[in-house]
Amino acid sequence: MQKILNYINGELVAPISDSYIENIDPSTGKIYSLCADSDDHDVALATDAALAAFPAWSNTSSSDRSKVMLKIAALIEENLEALALAESIDQGKPLWLAKNGEIPRAQANIHFFGTAIEHFASEAHPMGNHALNYTLRTPIGVVACISPWNLPLYLFTWKIAPALAAGNCVVAKPSEVTPMTAFLFSKICIEAGLPKGVLNIVHGLGPKVGAALTSHPNIPVISFTGGTKTGAEIARVAAPMFKKLSLELGGKNPNIIFADCDFEKTVKESVRASFTNQGEICLCGSRIYIEASIYEKFKSAFVEEVKKLKVGDPLLPQTKVGAIASQLHYDKILGYIDLAKEEGGTILCGGKTAAVEERCKDGFFIEPTVIEGLNHLCRTNQEEIFGPVVTLQKFETEEEVIEFANSNNYGLACILFTENLTRAHRVAAAVKSGIVWVNCWLLRDLRTPFGGMKQSGVGREGGWEALRFFTEPKNVCIKL
Ligand code: NDP
Repeated sequence: MQKILNYINGELVAPISDSYIENIDPSTGKIYSLCADSDDHDVALATDAALAAFPAWSNTSSSDRSKVMLKIAALIEENLEALALAESIDQGKPLWLAKNGEIPRAQANIHFFGTAIEHFASEAHPMGNHALNYTLRTPIGVVACISPWNLPLYLFTWKIAPALAAGNCVVAKPSEVTPMTAFLFSKICIEAGLPKGVLNIVHGLGPKVGAALTSHPNIPVISFTGGTKTGAEIARVAAPMFKKLSLELGGKNPNIIFADCDFEKTVKESVRASFTNQGEICLCGSRIYIEASIYEKFKSAFVEEVKKLKVGDPLLPQTKVGAIASQLHYDKILGYIDLAKEEGGTILCGGKTAAVEERCKDGFFIEPTVIEGLNHLCRTNQEEIFGPVVTLQKFETEEEVIEFANSNNYGLACILFTENLTRAHRVAAAVKSGIVWVNCWLLRDLRTPFGGMKQSGVGREGGWEALRFFTEPKNVCIKL
């Protein structure tokens, strides 16, 4: 069976313990590869390799760093089919989604930061003819990048690209639930000629590999995307060591639908925002608030569309909703559906395991689920489910829906549908959310600040924000 190895000091190596975790294809429920079960010894090796590579890499010109990154981006493009297939098998997402969305975005992440670094500049603050201040922005050292299982290569590259472009060396840990594309990516880095030790990938479990990275004394920067609970644990360990932290955490995003929306487009986009990638995107809209006057009309149109979504084999082109990424997560989602019923919710469609035949009969499939009749403060509407489950709720006024939207500890993304421009600006300003989409969802410009408020995270990724995060500013004041 194929073994997923670590990438340390430019080579693919087995974990020191030589132990492995079974890697399961969620669409069949069967083990299909073995993932390195690394520990703090492997992290120590990787960190030493990164430390040794840092002086040379940080002194490489930005155009030379750019060149190697663009080569990596080109190789992702060349290997699009293989990477998309691997992502679909590993994660459970439809193959067409990996091919058209995720892998091209991974390529774009590397390309974007590989070119951005050529334009990155720092500030100068002249004090008339008395003095001149200028800011040096230098790479920091070895940084840890820890990423989750929902958009594996997409989120992995979103972190490592700015870190490497800025001149840091990286020790990265993908989720052990979906390690395959990061492994293929390490082969691409070798082929592209990335100098040894500049990027190191250590596979394994969060409490072992992730925790060893977080507490490592020679890693002063951590960029983490994952759950809020894990983020809090990382912050707890990192704070007394004064590490620089970027935390992209969970979401429970409101999707607000006003009666003056473009109805057909709103229904279509709301279905997409609810169930893309089985609802396993931190940006999905899972609390749908509908203005009372169109509630019934929207409900029937939305449920009708949701029922059309084909759940099935991720490799088939007609599949719209694939497998849930792991049995653990599948059980968690079904648990939340039970909770919604206990809390008095009515299931309008879905609400149970989806039966998929033939090679996928033992996979982890759940029908897209729409629930109504719940209070905005109940657990179902407060906690992140991170699956194909949404709730519908009615609102009467703009003030009321802003209160509903903000009545949650998360603040990552908000979606608004209205044709009233003034209202769009007003509500966008009032919701406590790091990102607001008006009449669209997941329309991304990589230059924009990306991240959440409240328990959705600390800091912002994207564009200059990311390059500033991965550099240390130093002001130099010269008396003239
Ligand atoms: P987790 O928090 O469980 O895991 C994220 C990563 O952290 C994994 O690689 C995990 O390893 C690792 N990890 C676990 N424990 C520790 C630890 N003690 N120290 C260091 N690292 C650790 O999240 P999931 O993988 O379950 O991902 C889903 C979550 O990610 C959702 O809450 C979702 O909202 C959030 N997310 C946020 C995004 C954003 O941009 N704000 C984007 C995408 C997802 P292991 O897999 O072995 O547990």
